[in-house]
Amino acid sequence: MRGIISSLFVKKCEFCKRLNFRVCPNCLPKIANLKHSQDAIPYFLNYHDEKIRKLIWKFKYKNEVSIATDLAPLIGDFIYEQIENNLDLQSEHIYQNIYIIPAPITNDPTRYRMRNHMLVMANEVQKYLKKLEINATVCDCLAKSGTKRMAMILGKKKRTAHIEKSISLKSPPPKEGLIFIIDDVTTTGATLKKIKKLVTTKQAFVQIVALAH
Ligand SMILES: [Zn+2]
Repeated sequence: MRGIISSLFVKKCEFCKRLNFRVCPNCLPKIANLKHSQDAIPYFLNYHDEKIRKLIWKFKYKNEVSIATDLAPLIGDFIYEQIENNLDLQSEHIYQNIYIIPAPITNDPTRYRMRNHMLVMANEVQKYLKKLEINATVCDCLAKSGTKRMAMILGKKKRTAHIEKSISLKSPPPKEGLIFIIDDVTTTGATLKKIKKLVTTKQAFVQIVALAH
């Protein structure tokens, strides 16, 4: 019995079964590639891959924080590169104002899990950046209403409008700096584009990034 219980909780790399990881540092570069969706949204993982889909599902619904820890370098390194690329422009200013905004989950406790897994991811990315001597602030400023099911039954045009309406600000977004909006899976990009619109100001450079597509 003890064996069965402990085997359920043993962390193994989804790809090579190495212990104590969910995606080990060896496998991560093999499964991840920076690409852009049709909507020009950068992402790293192929959501059509069964193992990737399973991993993201577990991260989303089974609260496996270690998946966030193991995947955080993807977004962390991406942010690091963006900072490097923007250094010439307004270096000090940008260095001091780096924000990570997690995409929101729907605010319906009766229907969905309570915890926003992308907030967990944002915190893991923040920790990762700290090791690279970059201080980023996590800004959980977005809210989402309604359910995905509702969005599914609508046609494409109505769905986009529905998504647009369902996302709002629950607190003021950062006024300036380098802002990264992060999400797990991007499909049409409608959600992320709406968020970008909401948080963009004259003094902010806003970059969207998703884990998978
Ligand atoms: Zn591995």
